Amino acid sequence: MKTITEQKPLEEILKYVEKCQRVHIIGCGTCATLCHTGGKTEVIDMKKALEAAGKKVTGWMVLPTACDELTGEALRQEAEDINAADGILALTCSIGVQTIVFHLKEPKPVYPGLNTLFLGVEDRPGHFIELCQYCGSCVLGRTAAICPLVRCAKSLLNGPCGGSSGGKCEVSKDIPCAWQMIYDRLAAMGRLDEMDDIVPIKDWSVSVSGGPRMVDVDAECGIVTSKTTAENKTS
Ligand code: SF4
Ligand code: SF4
Repeated sequence: MKTITEQKPLEEILKYVEKCQRVHIIGCGTCATLCHTGGKTEVIDMKKALEAAGKKVTGWMVLPTACDELTGEALRQEAEDINAADGILALTCSIGVQTIVFHLKEPKPVYPGLNTLFLGVEDRPGHFIELCQYCGSCVLGRTAAICPLVRCAKSLLNGPCGGSSGGKCEVSKDIPCAWQMIYDRLAAMGRLDEMDDIVPIKDWSVSVSGGPRMVDVDAECGIVTSKTTAENKTS
């Protein structure tokens, strides 16, 4: 599984860093490298682009995995060049951006150079697909293990809608209808009767709609508790 990213347009990046004369660039050696958005090649290309725009690049680095806790140590080793910059341009996913912020010793602007699109798996070489949006109460057991929230354009819990045609979604002839896929898989398993079961209204308070989600993991006894911000306020 990889965090899928795309690089922001250079004009947007230059707008972010317009108040910074000196910039430090940080890439990521894992997902952003795989996506060709924030690996060594892209970081060096960005350095040239910023310099062409009149910026001084105080240094650059490609973290092994930007969202990893080892990022703190890597930033400490690069502290001199980072401290010399007015701001940091992160060619990492959004988690990498925020991990860098967690570990910075001094408040310093950190700008995202990438758009974070989704967590994807490779279903064929070089092609990544979104399979889950982490809703907090999985319904795969009712939908033949095909997620209707991310695979159906309307996120229908009970489908299909009237737009399904020839196995394709009404939004594009290139997109399979998720509910046709669910139907076909249930049929192949001899479980079509489950199409009659109505999936109840979901509890969205356990999704991000309920506020930032947190989990505590006890390393010794393995007890895991999760809470949304809303729950924390009432506990
Ligand atoms: S139902 Fe929710 S948890 Fe399950 S795959 Fe879909 S988004 Fe992910
Ligand atoms: S055609 Fe299928 S995938 Fe598209 S919105 Fe309707 S039910 Fe969802």
